[in-house]
Amino acid sequence: MINPFETAIKQLEEASQIANLDKNKIERLKNPDRYVEVSIPVVMDSGKLQIFIGFRSQHNNIRGPYKGGIRYHQDVNLDEVKALSFWMTFKNAVIGVPFGGGKGGIIVNPKELSTTELEKLSRGWVQKMYRILGPEVDVPAPDVNTTGQIMDWMADEYKNLTNDPKSQAVFTGKPLGCGGSEGREEATGFGGFYVFEEAAKKFNLSARATIAVQGFGNVATFFIKIAIEKGYKVVAVSDSKGGVVNMAGLDLSRLQEHKKQTGALKDFPDAKNITNEELLELDVDALVPAALENVLTGDNAGRIKARLILELANGPTTKEADKIFQEKNIPVIPDILANSGGVCVSFYEWYQNMKHETWSKEQVLGKLEKQIKKAFADVSSIREKYKTTFRNGAYILAAQRIMEKM
Ligand code: GLU
Repeated sequence: MINPFETAIKQLEEASQIANLDKNKIERLKNPDRYVEVSIPVVMDSGKLQIFIGFRSQHNNIRGPYKGGIRYHQDVNLDEVKALSFWMTFKNAVIGVPFGGGKGGIIVNPKELSTTELEKLSRGWVQKMYRILGPEVDVPAPDVNTTGQIMDWMADEYKNLTNDPKSQAVFTGKPLGCGGSEGREEATGFGGFYVFEEAAKKFNLSARATIAVQGFGNVATFFIKIAIEKGYKVVAVSDSKGGVVNMAGLDLSRLQEHKKQTGALKDFPDAKNITNEELLELDVDALVPAALENVLTGDNAGRIKARLILELANGPTTKEADKIFQEKNIPVIPDILANSGGVCVSFYEWYQNMKHETWSKEQVLGKLEKQIKKAFADVSSIREKYKTTFRNGAYILAAQRIMEKM
């Protein structure tokens, strides 16, 4: 098993050596400020009590309140949550929002729960955590398998417990009618595409370039939507049960319809079934991992044929794979830059809540595009200055911004 927290530490160490960063400050950044594990009792629909395990890791708040999502997944564990909170600190510095880094999770397969059970579990997480949260303390958001509805239950529970008049601002990614922001749903996928456009220009990908996307959640689907609209060919996609490929290109709404009807992407008409592993190794211009961590490893990196990798998942590439991509000259646009659009619009949502403002979708997406393209340019110039990878460039930029405030 590859430990994502060890990967995160090694990434920071590599970047800090290249730019000769202050060793004491780097040491401090390797360790989360605190993490907690809680038990959450839920009376299930059957009448039986079940205990769930929940986490929150608060990595660092030097640049602002701890900020980052909550993940519901059967494989969630403390080291994963710690790594994800660590990446949030650096992501927020790269995209330039005034937040630190945090992350939470619950060990659960939410697909096995009824709506009532899911609501009780979500409110239960807040009952155990509310003392360490707050609009200016720690601001969670959606992540894998968590939705606007879940954020709304959580914000409501926080309000019940604290009576804080700013309760809306303690969770972002809420539904539109409940204090959410226009454009938040699209933000991670669209933000990833704005970065992709800049990278495609830099590496001369054609306007009809082929893209394989691993994943079919919120991030993947909005990335696919805008990529197809802009003329790119999305030739393969997958969910946890497997993928489909058609080198002539896929149609998003038909894929969504098929998934809705059958519960999976596989057996989609006019496409060939493939495994998740095969998807990664397809002969495409760009590969976009948009699901979970540790999918590009020392085992398969040598077989990757894509000319560019855009990390929309957090932590999809292991240290060994990174080294192989560097040797093979395959640029990897790292998670802490490529998927920072989500938290960027989370900041816009938080700001609107705090100031009682409402921005239009055009305003939100226009600001996001400018801000994330600026982040890409900032990372690119550091990459060129140190003649290194995009990942090292992003870490150096972020570490410098965080250390300025230390
Ligand atoms: N879960 C998202 C991420 O990994 C968004 C976090 C947020 O909006 O706070 O970046």
